[in-house]
Amino acid sequence: MKHGECKLCHNISDLCESHIIPDFIFRYIRTCDKQIVADINSPPKAFYHDQSYKEHLLCLKCEKIIKKYEDYARDILFDFKRASIFINETEGKIYYKNIDYLKFKNYLLSVIWRVSISNIKMFSNIKLSHDEENKIRCIILNNDKNVPNYFGCEIVKFYDERIEGLNKNIDYCSIFIQPYFESSGKIFFVYGGHIWIYKKINDSKSILNESGSMVVNKKSIRKYPVLINTIEVAILGCKKVGKFGKNK
Ligand SMILES: [Zn+2]
Repeated sequence: MKHGECKLCHNISDLCESHIIPDFIFRYIRTCDKQIVADINSPPKAFYHDQSYKEHLLCLKCEKIIKKYEDYARDILFDFKRASIFINETEGKIYYKNIDYLKFKNYLLSVIWRVSISNIKMFSNIKLSHDEENKIRCIILNNDKNVPNYFGCEIVKFYDERIEGLNKNIDYCSIFIQPYFESSGKIFFVYGGHIWIYKKINDSKSILNESGSMVVNKKSIRKYPVLINTIEVAILGCKKVGKFGKNK
């Protein structure tokens, strides 16, 4: 086990191999036999990668803190009854109620923070300033609820009507795309069947409310020009036999 400074609490300790993107995403992908990872660099390319990206970042105590938030996010995405939340789904939106605001906010911030401090090449597109990294670190460490608007995240459940027309059986949760900065300053992640769009300053589209309600819009990837190309490459460029490889 590597010994060093924990990136969250700054204590010197044995360091865990911490996941950069939550392991539950890759655990799901490993059960699917159709994992897709897309590298956004021009031209985008698709490849298989079913292992989590890991790095020595956190002491055991901090690892457990982050794990608690990850478990909660997993339940919100895949097992909402266990998370004791309520969901009402309409054609274009999903309304969530009773979310534990602090837990989920800390989860959202922990992902962008880990990606920013990571040295793994897959995440080299995302680098926040030292001040931003430190502010997010303190929010997570202190469970600080007084900064609701910092790096708010809009979550979008995506679909692609064109590709669905070619192959009706797409499992969007199997797609993981390299996170990237957009010229507008927004930071995009694609995993778990959702697009996660972070903004330094919240606007009215930010969806997690301090009262525990959240609205997730369902949108076609045609609204996100950068993603159209990459997701098409990820799905149509797949050579491994699996759901993506069959024209059903
Ligand atoms: Zn620590």
